[in-house]
Amino acid sequence: MTRYVSLYVHIPFCVVKCKYCDFLSFDGESYGTMLRYVDALCREIRLYEPVADEYVVRSIFIGGGTPSLLDESLVKNILAFIKRSFRVEKDAEITIEANPGTLGHQKLLGYRQAGVNRLSIGLQSADDEILKKLGRIHNYDQFVASMNAARRAGFTNINIDVMSGLPGQTIHSYVETLSRVLDFEPEHISAYALQVEEGTPLSRDEQLLSEIPPDMIDRRMYEITKQLLGAKGYDRYEISNYAKSGYECRHNMVYWTGGEYIGFGIGAASYFQGKRFSNIRDILAYIGKMEQISDAFSDASNLEMLYNDTMKELRENVTPVYLYSRMEEFMFLGLRMMCGVSREEFMERFKKDIYEVYGPVLNRHIEQGYMAEIGDRIILTDRGIDVSNIILADFILDKE
Ligand code: SF4
Repeated sequence: MTRYVSLYVHIPFCVVKCKYCDFLSFDGESYGTMLRYVDALCREIRLYEPVADEYVVRSIFIGGGTPSLLDESLVKNILAFIKRSFRVEKDAEITIEANPGTLGHQKLLGYRQAGVNRLSIGLQSADDEILKKLGRIHNYDQFVASMNAARRAGFTNINIDVMSGLPGQTIHSYVETLSRVLDFEPEHISAYALQVEEGTPLSRDEQLLSEIPPDMIDRRMYEITKQLLGAKGYDRYEISNYAKSGYECRHNMVYWTGGEYIGFGIGAASYFQGKRFSNIRDILAYIGKMEQISDAFSDASNLEMLYNDTMKELRENVTPVYLYSRMEEFMFLGLRMMCGVSREEFMERFKKDIYEVYGPVLNRHIEQGYMAEIGDRIILTDRGIDVSNIILADFILDKE
């Protein structure tokens, strides 16, 4: 039976850190460090050769950070190493995340030629004042130039990220952002609400915090997103993700449906061969470890031993995925999707009826109108989505 895997490649570099960002990324790194890091990434990819044969790759996601800081030759290298080590499906979805202000026509053409077929552009807001407050490096005009260049370079599958609940954002300015985005007819739109993460500059900036719209306005923005995007033919297939038919993000679907994935690069998370783990977060330690193993590649018979030894040092928080945690994840992630979870699939995966495990919780939420059963599928209703965090917490199993 063919086993599928998806690959995530982490590029931890940004021009400057945005004020709300708590992702693992660094600003101001030299081009030399980027080169060493990409070289280390390629070595990590090669290390997987002894196990890669059993898998077919369906999607690759180059995320960050700001991967579009990499020039086309580096992206080409990464993808060439992946294709050399893994069997990649001919029509695999290959995405790169990009920031306006780091994209030009030449670079975009190069990405296309390297095999990238999906672009995810972080706009966040079309209001330059708000972009400045967030510490974004770009303005709206640069986004327009990037979108036009991307279409000219032949990208026919583009996602645009927008955010609601931003400092200084009004309903009017949010609607303006959505309408401008819709003018470009992107294939996919991700619309997330701002989260104030501890330790970020935003979390310490009293002035900016005081400009964040109240929850009531944020809720209205959420409703408006559903209405406006729905009216323009976008299907909301996950709580925060909208796509034209056939353009749902295949890579994210793998996360949401419990599929296997490998993350390359610092801090990258994996769910692979029954275990969850993430790579070490220290960039110099990561580069150092990878540089140490260079000579060993010359002898292919060494690779398996090298894989086993290096992975012990590279991976942190390795946890076997027990049956109960797979069930919990099946529910948490599946219920975030509008199509919900399938009773039959639950039975196939866990050899138990979903009601045998979750009967009392399901009956209660269905009775109260937070969930519904439609044919084989169990979904959150609109009312349930509104309080999804509370509802989903009920699917944590008692391990006693
Ligand atoms: S561009 Fe993205 S990853 Fe980089 S600092 Fe801003 S939000 Fe964080």
